[in-house]
Amino acid sequence: MLLLVTSNFQGMFIPVNDIHHSANCPLSWFAAVKSRNFSCMEEVIINNTAYSCREGITILDALKDAGIVLPTLCFDPRVKPASSCRLCLVQIKGNKRLQPACRTRVSAGMEITTHSPELEDYRKTVLTMLAKDYPLTAVAGEPAAEFHQWLNHYGITAGLYTPDVSLPDDTHPYIHVDMSRCISCTKCIRVCNEVQGQFVWHMTNRGDGTRIVPDSNTGLADSSCVSCGLCAEACPTGAIEDKQPLRFGKPEKYVNTICPYCAVGCEIRVGIKDGRITQVLPSPDSPVNRGHLCVKGRYAWEYVNAADRIIHPMIRKNGTWKTVSWEEAIWYTAARLSAIRKQHGPDSIALLGSARGTNEENYLVQKFARTVIGTNNVDNCARVCHQPTAKAMTIMLGAGAATNSFDDIEKARTIMIVGSNTTESHPVIGARIRQMALHGVGLIVIDPRKIELTKYASCHLQLKPGTNVALFNAMAQVIISEGWYDADFVEKQLTGWEDYCAFINEYTPEMVAEQCGVPPEQIREAARLYAANSPSICFHGLGLTEQTQGTESVMTLVNLALLTGNIGKPGTGINPLRGQNNVQGAAVMGCDPVAYTGLALVKNEKARFEALWNTPLPASKGLNLLQMMDAARDEQLKAMWICGYDTFFTLPDVKNMQQGYEKIEFVVVQDMFMTATAEKFADVFFPAACSFEKDGTFTNSERRIQRIRQVSPPPGETKADWEIVCLVAAAMGKEELFPYTSAEEIWDEIRQAWKTVYGITYERLQQEGIQWPCPGIAHPGTPILHTQHFPVNGKVRLESIAYIPSPEGASPEFPFTLITGRELYHFNAGNMSYRTPNAQLCTSDTLWLHPDDAVRLSVTDNEPVKLISRYGQTVLPVHVTNLVEKGSVFSAFSAAGVFVNKVTGPFRDNYVQTPAYKITAVRIEKSGAVNNHSNE
Ligand code: SF4
Repeated sequence: MLLLVTSNFQGMFIPVNDIHHSANCPLSWFAAVKSRNFSCMEEVIINNTAYSCREGITILDALKDAGIVLPTLCFDPRVKPASSCRLCLVQIKGNKRLQPACRTRVSAGMEITTHSPELEDYRKTVLTMLAKDYPLTAVAGEPAAEFHQWLNHYGITAGLYTPDVSLPDDTHPYIHVDMSRCISCTKCIRVCNEVQGQFVWHMTNRGDGTRIVPDSNTGLADSSCVSCGLCAEACPTGAIEDKQPLRFGKPEKYVNTICPYCAVGCEIRVGIKDGRITQVLPSPDSPVNRGHLCVKGRYAWEYVNAADRIIHPMIRKNGTWKTVSWEEAIWYTAARLSAIRKQHGPDSIALLGSARGTNEENYLVQKFARTVIGTNNVDNCARVCHQPTAKAMTIMLGAGAATNSFDDIEKARTIMIVGSNTTESHPVIGARIRQMALHGVGLIVIDPRKIELTKYASCHLQLKPGTNVALFNAMAQVIISEGWYDADFVEKQLTGWEDYCAFINEYTPEMVAEQCGVPPEQIREAARLYAANSPSICFHGLGLTEQTQGTESVMTLVNLALLTGNIGKPGTGINPLRGQNNVQGAAVMGCDPVAYTGLALVKNEKARFEALWNTPLPASKGLNLLQMMDAARDEQLKAMWICGYDTFFTLPDVKNMQQGYEKIEFVVVQDMFMTATAEKFADVFFPAACSFEKDGTFTNSERRIQRIRQVSPPPGETKADWEIVCLVAAAMGKEELFPYTSAEEIWDEIRQAWKTVYGITYERLQQEGIQWPCPGIAHPGTPILHTQHFPVNGKVRLESIAYIPSPEGASPEFPFTLITGRELYHFNAGNMSYRTPNAQLCTSDTLWLHPDDAVRLSVTDNEPVKLISRYGQTVLPVHVTNLVEKGSVFSAFSAAGVFVNKVTGPFRDNYVQTPAYKITAVRIEKSGAVNNHSNE
């Protein structure tokens, strides 16, 4: 207990440790009382004791630092103080009126009294009034709720109010609502508006009839709620409450780790009871998510205990799966791989790392491929998402990763979003961007769909899919011809100016308008806003990269940042929003046929890695994932070990892919569930621990390496991926190269292999994630790249890239263009999210179709239709919406019953073979079929 008690009112102080802050209580955020020796200090007197406190902070923050707790029912550090509950009023010497501690800032010499008989009487009066019409049963039933704790602390009994039976609302799968417990503190309204930006809750009626209701005016499930759960976390009474801890038990302790879904990399506090997860909350002080989460991170974790989780090793013999011991599974696999290697050579075997695996595990997968098998045939799912970004940014800037940090969102004057439905695919970042747009920051959206952020955008360029190169060239032409470029930056940092100007001259907005489907004036408006209203930051998603000109699209986007000097500074940069939680890490760890750990090229650094690993390494050219599938079809690839990746379900052009898999002699799948890939093609199944069940690190989209921690023990016989790799290596006679006993030991080897992260140790990561480069133990990490100069010769060359239309053209037979992508409630192959109540919030992938097209085809909302391309067909329900253009349709790709990749086509990026998922010519026919769309 850190409180200094020297006041005359000692008995009325509430020491920090005497109040049991519920997990939902904002006061719990205050529990980590920091040192009172701050650098920029003001001297204040609190309750007759002198304190030094940080300059300009609120009295409430000063009290927190001093370990003094006040009731603050309407306060939440994530939103502006409302000061409506009046419970944190304090006496300031010389001030006649009591002042709210939550919004009054300290000043030098201020003398503050927090507890006096008068103040305490006042608080009791306020609480008594709030309790008058409050259900007594609620206080007794849930004493840990923040409001109930204060009632009990002050000895106040709630009224004998009989709750209105019509008030409880149980329609939402994760959130219970009982407004008989509402005290109108309005925290739910304010966190929803000011953090999530969803504006779901509002006040209705007046006087005694005042109620807070969702915007549906009926059940929460019918409202515009996106289930981020912030209102339930903020509510001090339980009027809005998470169901999971009610169902599974209140947590006994919390462990900090990282969300298992997208590469925003939100830090979470996982609540555990009896060794099982019962609740997930955001970490309040994470620089990534700042106390916020989306529906997946907060609620979609029940897959961990799914009944169909595979928890024993299995071998399929004569078409039948048989549970076996680890010993048998490992020796069987080692024997099969050794035999294939001997008969067909090492390059007949390939491995795939996992974007859901840790950095350490991906490091071992590529080390295994190269040192045990002797092949560079190793890749990961970055191949099908942001490999074009990595390639383009490496060619131009010398580093294939985000240039800036999420914290630059709040420093930008213009934000440009390209090919990313950010509020659904990366919701926590989408919410931050929306808040900035609501506060007047310029927002440019470049997307074929009217994504949600277009509601807040200054301009929306609704381009035709795949025309990014033409559009960016035209924006560059405007920037140059109208003189919006940064002449100083161009002169000092760029090369190739004359050539580029000569090339770009012809790309006038008028020239590209028809190709892109964007009026010239809109192109000019966007170019001017991006260039003139800087600093301008750009985020891009797979809408840009999953095209035949994916790499070139990113290169032309980089041109815009370079021309306008929007790079290397706060509030600027080119920032890919990576897909899965550790896809950035999987690629950089060396699950890449042409690069070892740290993007060290095989052709340049073989000798260094041979010395590091003390073994000869292969020189032959490795195959990437798409080339592996081609080689399988050509009967060159004989064995494949796939870690944490449902390739069959997520690769395009399924019919063609299937032919490849069917020719592979031996397939090992290492995963949590019987994925589509495992079910159809695997010979061995290694049951893997999930990210809640192991230690390690992930790398998020902004190059931040963060610790994941074991929260609960691996179920059954499941093992961490790295342990399984070590066991097979040992069985194949290479135990000495894989001697690890912990994830930390592997990380320490990575620090030797890749000096850019040498300064990042597990000990430092205990405090907070660190962004690479971080070459030394005292180095703070690097939030912004290229602040001084560029890695290759100090300068960057502008790239002149001509637009080439996609070969996947629409035709009279296939008149629609299908775009595939993500949606809020499900993730990737759906293997995790469809095994949670998210399946109730979104029951299936649907086909978004413009109302005019729906009328023309005589189909209605929710009607199943056949979606047919040149490559295959499927059936899915229609969602009639004007969020897509006429002639375009959209579907997510997560529902097993739909399996939309049966329809997507064979075309690939010109540089790195990333599939062109974003353009497939299709036709739509009435179906009448009934389909099971879920993945369960
Ligand atoms: Fe998890 Fe991404 Fe949602 Fe954050 S935004 S909670 S990392 S899914």
